[in-house]
Amino acid sequence: MSTFNGIVREIPNISIDRFDGFNLRSTVFFLSHCHADHMQGLFTNNFLAHLKKDNVFLYCSDLSYHILMNTPIKEVKESVKIVSFLMETIIEVLPSEHYSQPQNITVTAIPAGHCPGSIMFMFEGVCGRILYTGDIRIMEGDIKKMKQLLNCDGSAKSIETLYLDTTFLDTSYEYFPPRKNSAESLCKLISDWISQSSEHYVHIVTAAKHGSEYLFVEIFKSLKIKVHVNFDHFILYQNIPEVEPAITASSGLSQVHACGVQGEPCRFLEGKKKQGLVRTIKPSAMWFRNRQKSDDTVIESRERISFKVAYSCHSSLSELADIIEFLQPKKIVPCVIPPNANKNDFKIFLRSFHQSLKQERSLLCEMKNREEISRSEFKRLQSEEQPCNRNKPEVNKNASSPPHKTSRFNT
Ligand SMILES: [Zn+2]
Ligand SMILES: [Zn+2]
Repeated sequence: MSTFNGIVREIPNISIDRFDGFNLRSTVFFLSHCHADHMQGLFTNNFLAHLKKDNVFLYCSDLSYHILMNTPIKEVKESVKIVSFLMETIIEVLPSEHYSQPQNITVTAIPAGHCPGSIMFMFEGVCGRILYTGDIRIMEGDIKKMKQLLNCDGSAKSIETLYLDTTFLDTSYEYFPPRKNSAESLCKLISDWISQSSEHYVHIVTAAKHGSEYLFVEIFKSLKIKVHVNFDHFILYQNIPEVEPAITASSGLSQVHACGVQGEPCRFLEGKKKQGLVRTIKPSAMWFRNRQKSDDTVIESRERISFKVAYSCHSSLSELADIIEFLQPKKIVPCVIPPNANKNDFKIFLRSFHQSLKQERSLLCEMKNREEISRSEFKRLQSEEQPCNRNKPEVNKNASSPPHKTSRFNT
């Protein structure tokens, strides 16, 4: 759940993923993706009135634009602009106390891998280079393939400040299986159950309002079954071409239902549940603390009627470490302060984590220069010689305790 207040200190007069309070002083707005915790204030009369003013604009991805055109934002559609993956967009930021003249800032959209239409924003200008990730799920190694972030020689462009999705910056969440593996496990659990008869059903209990779209698409691709979703989601997904074929609003037409969000399913499925014909599956990251690559992606209940599948649309700790190691940002601003975690303690933990990655990198460079060792060899040596590696930053224990998360985390 995003706790970012919308303000990017380095670039006055812009706001990202917040559309209320002091953000209404901004003149250029950015929306990274269409999840509720990134849209606070977006549909209020105050923001709509603000967006109607001259020279006030909202930028988002192509897909988010289409979603917004079915919301009150369509009233001001002339003020909504698409940031394309294919070309840089130049925006003008009005003068402020920092700059007496208007400033041109170049904005680049980069896929975020979190949900349909989700993007990161890279800003370049007198402010230096700033990367705002929004919510991300970027697998290890993939950040090095994102051309927008690379110099001609393949090295990373220098980043002044990284505004990072820190949802799982937590030593308990070192590893998540790739989403493809999660989807395969889910599809197997579904097909094993519904193949028994046409009267067997599956209830997918989603941990959050959004974020399961990828799974619906994979179920459709693999099993040719449309998932029953509630009417609000059905309307929303009509605007997402890749999700639309994978869902249905007709409860009686599907053996697979994801119609209840953190709650009870539709009446049709409720009736089948009483007859013992429904298998419940919860895709979630929350139950998979301290897991390793070799661990199973599925946890089953004793009575084998309910299952949990490891699934995350946010990056794990090791994936975040991979991003930070490659980009080497000078500064990191966390965009999620976990509930139950103290803001200052978490910042200390993040600083220590960042510092340990910097040290690891400089040690790697030093050893490479000296002995030309490979990175895997370096990792092996490091784990033998340095038990306090990046997973256990050496800071005051009370201050750096990894945050404990609640189910709200999976948004
Ligand atoms: Zn999100
Ligand atoms: Zn249903």
